[in-house]
Amino acid sequence: MDVYFLGTGASASLGNRNPFCVVIKRKKELIMLDPAEGAQFLLAKSKLGFCKPMKIIVSHVHGDHILGLPGLLQSMKMFRRKTQLELFGPKKLRSFLLFHANFFKLNPNFEVTFLPISDGSIYSYDEYFLNFFGVKHSIDCLGVALLEKNRRGKFNGEKAQKLSIPNNLRPLLIKGETITWGGRIIKPSDIIGPPRKGRKIVYIPDTVFFEELISIAQGSDLVIYNAPFSAKDLQHAEEKSHSTIQDVVKLAEETSTKLVVATHISNRYATQEEYMKGLDSLPKKVIIAEDFLKVHIPYPEKGEPEIFLPNKKVKL
Ligand SMILES: [Zn+2]
Repeated sequence: MDVYFLGTGASASLGNRNPFCVVIKRKKELIMLDPAEGAQFLLAKSKLGFCKPMKIIVSHVHGDHILGLPGLLQSMKMFRRKTQLELFGPKKLRSFLLFHANFFKLNPNFEVTFLPISDGSIYSYDEYFLNFFGVKHSIDCLGVALLEKNRRGKFNGEKAQKLSIPNNLRPLLIKGETITWGGRIIKPSDIIGPPRKGRKIVYIPDTVFFEELISIAQGSDLVIYNAPFSAKDLQHAEEKSHSTIQDVVKLAEETSTKLVVATHISNRYATQEEYMKGLDSLPKKVIIAEDFLKVHIPYPEKGEPEIFLPNKKVKL
């Protein structure tokens, strides 16, 4: 699974960071988080494509999280998308969509399915869940945990060879059936290892820090955390119901999360040093997002997350 931080800025755009947009690429599917203005341009630039199976998740209806939607839908139509698009968001998002669809006479040539979300909503797919949780922002706002289901254990080809199990009987074991071969009873667990854990990605959108975030983020491979402000601007962060980089560090230190990426950063900070002001140090597992940062999240048995900054690869 790869996570693309196409835009890492917060609301007021001064041009030093792209407006916010994150895309998770899982197998052939794209899952976009909070498309701000110009999301279609960033998607085009990333070459991730407009016609793939896709979900868009909108955490809340502030402009810097939804204004990219009309342009995105228009571009999808232009590129002759045929595949259904699933759109998750608070109930209010529906009227925003209907207004734009009517105003621009959008009539997309693909199906758009709107799926309302609220605290505790769970959507289950073949290979993963989307678990939504409420956060503490100035309006209703929802975070999401993408939780992959356990995968079946590894088939031990060597053992199967030793027991001379013919090819046509192997699928039965994979399906979980016990077979008799060569006078022996062979159970699936004789040949197939224990179920393998999936990956967990948590998106914490605009919110002040609160204790439950620790249990929500626990055991994640990656946490994407919107933290527009520096530690020294804590008061301003609280007034705006937002988090600071200090909150990101706290979350990283108090959870077993492998990697936490701070993003949605205010354009008031011209440099990373300014954003870091008031903070003693940054733990190794916290990074500050840059536009077009890519993070690769392998299956747990295959190693640690890999970070690809626009011009270089960094090992954790
Ligand atoms: Zn907001």
